[in-house]
Amino acid sequence: MSSVDAVVVGAGPNGLAAAVTLARAGLRVELFEAADTVGGGTRTAELTLPGFRHDVCSAVHPMAPPSPFFRAFELERRVELVTPEISYAHPLEGRPAGIAYRDLDRTAERLGRDGAAWRNLFAPVAAHPDRIGRFTAAPLLRIPANPVTVARFGMRVLEQASPAWSLRFRDDTAPAMLTGVAAHSIGRLPGIAPAGVAMTLAGHAHAHGWPIPIGGSQAIADAMADDLLAHGGSITTGTRIADLRDLPAAKATVLDVSARALLELGGHSLPPGYRRALSRFRFGDAVAKVDYALSEPVPWTDPDLHAAPTFHIGGTRAQIARSEREVAAGRHPSRPYVLGSQPTIVDSSRAPAGRHVVWAYTHVPRGSTLDPTQIVTAEIERHAPGFRDTILASASRSAAQFAEYNPNYVGGDISAGAVTLAQLLRRPVLSPVPWRTPIPGVYLGSSSTPPATGVHGMSGYQAALYALRDRFGLEAPQLGVED
Ligand SMILES: Cc1cc2nc3c(=O)[nH]c(=O)nc-3n(C[C@H](O)[C@H](O)[C@H](O)COP(=O)(O)OP(=O)(O)OC[C@H]3O[C@@H](n4cnc5c(N)ncnc54)[C@H](O)[C@@H]3O)c2cc1C
Repeated sequence: MSSVDAVVVGAGPNGLAAAVTLARAGLRVELFEAADTVGGGTRTAELTLPGFRHDVCSAVHPMAPPSPFFRAFELERRVELVTPEISYAHPLEGRPAGIAYRDLDRTAERLGRDGAAWRNLFAPVAAHPDRIGRFTAAPLLRIPANPVTVARFGMRVLEQASPAWSLRFRDDTAPAMLTGVAAHSIGRLPGIAPAGVAMTLAGHAHAHGWPIPIGGSQAIADAMADDLLAHGGSITTGTRIADLRDLPAAKATVLDVSARALLELGGHSLPPGYRRALSRFRFGDAVAKVDYALSEPVPWTDPDLHAAPTFHIGGTRAQIARSEREVAAGRHPSRPYVLGSQPTIVDSSRAPAGRHVVWAYTHVPRGSTLDPTQIVTAEIERHAPGFRDTILASASRSAAQFAEYNPNYVGGDISAGAVTLAQLLRRPVLSPVPWRTPIPGVYLGSSSTPPATGVHGMSGYQAALYALRDRFGLEAPQLGVED
């Protein structure tokens, strides 16, 4: 007789969400993780100097508040999340930065003659963040529960994906701000997937805001691991699973691994059609990152940047589109897009008194071994002269090193699969229940499944809910804090 009911492989936010859901349903759950600590893309560590704590991967959490999993789990009662007034900023040379305040009207006011266009673009999305959250958390194949809101959202996505994407704006700032968010998807611009990402994330910026966890993203992983242990689950770290046949016998297995790893772990039991579909699944371009320990805050030229925990650098819409095209063509752009976070302006626990940390990454071709320190530092310096002089230490990770750090980041693709329209429909296969694999009892719950990348726990949660229903005849358990 098996000593466990369910096994989970991989302790990223999706694996942890699956394990918590299964354990809360009363099952005996064992979780295996390749690394020495839990967290996957939600780890925080001293990467530079003692006392400076850096988010190794995710840092900012726009996907957490609207996530049905985190809602049920009552994340905000377990982790202190700071929601800044400024969701993101976009410094521009020779003129004021674009600032996306959580307050839509304030954002519009600052945009001057493009204010009304920005307000019209986001008002319907920001008014119904939960409907948009539910829609983007489900496979695109499903009929939406709120067709009117979704249709409005869809029209805006189509507009921002078309060559006429700047038609509603008269100045450069608003399009640059939108493009800074669209570029999170890593790929050619404009396009449907980046436009969807832009409308979703920028919509959340004006609805729930873009929260930062006190203590770093590790706090989110730890909250889930604690809940799992409190409900009888066990966690084995330092164990990379190479074959499904090495796992303890269990009625259900949820894999927080990439679509490619599913092929490696279970290829022997998968039918040829499914194997072919997995082998056609494409991985995208990559990120390379720098973490800085600073003696003082970043000396931004634009004073409004001092209050912006998240910033996008890369110039105008056309300049960002050009640098993303370069990456897609396999080249390192000379003026790259940089996504950054300065969490110590809202969380002083990350560094010794008066000191700061900055987290910043840029896009590079998949598999790149480029150390991004020089190019990222130069881009920040462009908008913050003197930045170099504030650096006490830095640590970098190339795309190739990200792939070594976490097997889900194939070639340094942090989304476990390219974020394209085709792969939002077919993630990793075209199915209304893409979390179910053809192997009875085996479910895929990583960001190689909907709703793709980000810290939301929804891929693992959905996989666990299907496992509970199919294998145990159980419905969704209560996940909230037990008083
Ligand atoms: C630099 C960077 C910045 C990011 N910034 C953000 C951000 O600010 N906000 C945001 O929302 N998202 C961000 N992301 C993306 C986010 O981290 C991921 O989308 C998220 O972590 C995916 O969760 P997951 O559980 O699917 O996989 P992961 O978090 O990748 O976890 C997978 C886990 O499974 C383990 N594993 C894999 N294969 C095996 C195996 N065979 N055996 C045992 N264990 C295995 C891995 O070691 C890993 O711990 C960022 C990612 C990176 C790399």
